[in-house]
Amino acid sequence: MEFQWNRSEVLGLAREACAHCHGLGMRHGDEGSSEPCNCVLRKVFTSCFRKFRACAEKASHLPVARIENVANGCDNRQSWGMKSEEYMADFYLVTKRNLDAFEFQLFRFHFLLGADWKLCCRRLKLDRGRFFHSVYRIEQKLGRIFRELQPYALFPLDEYFGGAVEGWREPTRKVVEMRFGPRGGRALRAPLKKVA
Ligand SMILES: [Zn+2]
Repeated sequence: MEFQWNRSEVLGLAREACAHCHGLGMRHGDEGSSEPCNCVLRKVFTSCFRKFRACAEKASHLPVARIENVANGCDNRQSWGMKSEEYMADFYLVTKRNLDAFEFQLFRFHFLLGADWKLCCRRLKLDRGRFFHSVYRIEQKLGRIFRELQPYALFPLDEYFGGAVEGWREPTRKVVEMRFGPRGGRALRAPLKKVA
């Protein structure tokens, strides 16, 4: 079933000063359109990315390189029990799967490694306009996917995290086990039994 954006949800996410939606969150155009404005999509991305960074900072024993190794199939099998680790893996894998090679390279430099626009432009041979245009495109693309993802969207974050207080593990409704094939195959998502 096609995902339907909810008007009150986008209203809460829209940027008040947005020149396109004027803070209403819906895209201009057709009456009754349920397409969210780009400012809403970018807000979803930014919230998810902030959470990813917060998780990464806490789990300093699990740096991005480790997630990359697992995602690239260097580990044949890895269980991700902790919610924040699961979130980081989800965020990373969904991103990697949905961006093209150029977009992912830019995502990695700019968002994961923290390179500013000047460094990215030099490294990727871009001009300033193309850099910002591409960053916006990446944010909008991922924001939409993070919200529309089935069966478990990454956003809203409190739903993803099941209302759990940080650091406290509730019996989770979904424990996801990820398996990675020898050639870095796709991650499998399997709802398992409840754990205490
Ligand atoms: Zn807007």
